[in-house]
Amino acid sequence: MSNYQTGLDFAKEQDANDTLSGYRNLFHIPKDQHGNDTIYLCGNSLGLQPKATKNYINQELADWAHLGVEGHTQAANPWLGYHEFLTNNMAAVVGAKPIEVVVMNTLTANLHFMMVSFYQPTDSRYKIVIESDAFPSDKYAVESQLRHHGYNEKDGLILWKPREGEELLRYEDLEAILETHGHEIALIMIGGVNYYTGQFFDFKRITKMGHAHGCMVGFDCAHGAGNVPLNLHDSGADFAVWCTYKYLNSGPGSLGGCFVHERHAHNNKLNRFTGWWSHNKETRFKMRDDFDALPGAEGWQLSNPPILSMAAIKASLDIFQSVSMEQLRQKSIHLTGYFAFLLKQLGEDVIRIITPENPDERGCQLSIQVKNADKTLHKRLTQAGVISDWREPDVIRCAPTPLYNSYQDVFYMVERLKEIVNKPAN
Ligand SMILES: *Cc1c(COP(=O)(O)O)cnc(C)c1O
Repeated sequence: MSNYQTGLDFAKEQDANDTLSGYRNLFHIPKDQHGNDTIYLCGNSLGLQPKATKNYINQELADWAHLGVEGHTQAANPWLGYHEFLTNNMAAVVGAKPIEVVVMNTLTANLHFMMVSFYQPTDSRYKIVIESDAFPSDKYAVESQLRHHGYNEKDGLILWKPREGEELLRYEDLEAILETHGHEIALIMIGGVNYYTGQFFDFKRITKMGHAHGCMVGFDCAHGAGNVPLNLHDSGADFAVWCTYKYLNSGPGSLGGCFVHERHAHNNKLNRFTGWWSHNKETRFKMRDDFDALPGAEGWQLSNPPILSMAAIKASLDIFQSVSMEQLRQKSIHLTGYFAFLLKQLGEDVIRIITPENPDERGCQLSIQVKNADKTLHKRLTQAGVISDWREPDVIRCAPTPLYNSYQDVFYMVERLKEIVNKPAN
């Protein structure tokens, strides 16, 4: 770890030796006002567009133009089962078996659909645990599920909080919650990589703790999918959801992914909301049969797949298929380690990194608290061609992604941050 060096030469040398450096050229890099590549560190919010995406979508537009409804069966990639083209590659990205994964709906919608099945409160066991700084959509979703079942969120929601003066969550505090309230908790739903701090949780550990107390356990992996190896199957989690527009580079508002553990694949007793796409493929179009759930995650689908969005996901997953998450992770750990090393040179009186120092407990993102900063810092960084993400009151979040970011991106980001903090705005 400590062989990092501060000079530009080091960054150039790392880029020259990076076996994944060619992937950057597969993406459109947004330009600044001078026509130069921006330093795009916002893949945690919206991943960049693969150059191939347009062709994948154009293929479907052309088939629709030429074939009309016949495209369902005659298109080059027949639309009827289009989601199946995504399953194996998506399963590899999140570390699941194909039967455990489906691409459908959008993220928050999937979270609700999963809770229909995995949040089944009873009078004595109805509470939900979520991390206190959960992404707002997740918090609203679990609160509304509580209300939907007639519970009060003040009483029904248990927050796993950082200790006074800390930002990161400690497992012993979750264990303490479970010791006291475990028998009342129906569901533990945690953001697998916290969107704010970048803390990457130990899914296996949390799942084991939850199951030991009889709770269902699910993860929102919006900030994990395509960023860190999630090993969802081995984690034993009951369900997981994620989106495809962050690290999975599939376009604004694109569809979500959903994981249902294999142990639930054939459980027809689980309550679920259904539609014709959750029904047995063999008899789906007879339209008269009683409902017959598909096994596995596919059995949670409702609607026929939106092909244009899925074409963008296919374009992206075909890139992921050519490089393993392990390879990406290896570069990511080194690249983010380099980023942390350079930031530390600015001094503790200027910045503080909130994200865990241990690479096993974070993905590529660093959340950087800048002393005495306000939103003008973010504006000045943007003007300097650094695309990052701001969170009030004083935190910038930067995510050097191993697919398209370089060591020089990271070097220049820190150079520009240094210039800005050393030269107060006039
Ligand atoms: C990005 C993100 C969302 C956004 O949800 P959508 O339904 O896709 O709008 C929700 N939860 C988390 C944890 C996120 O990171």
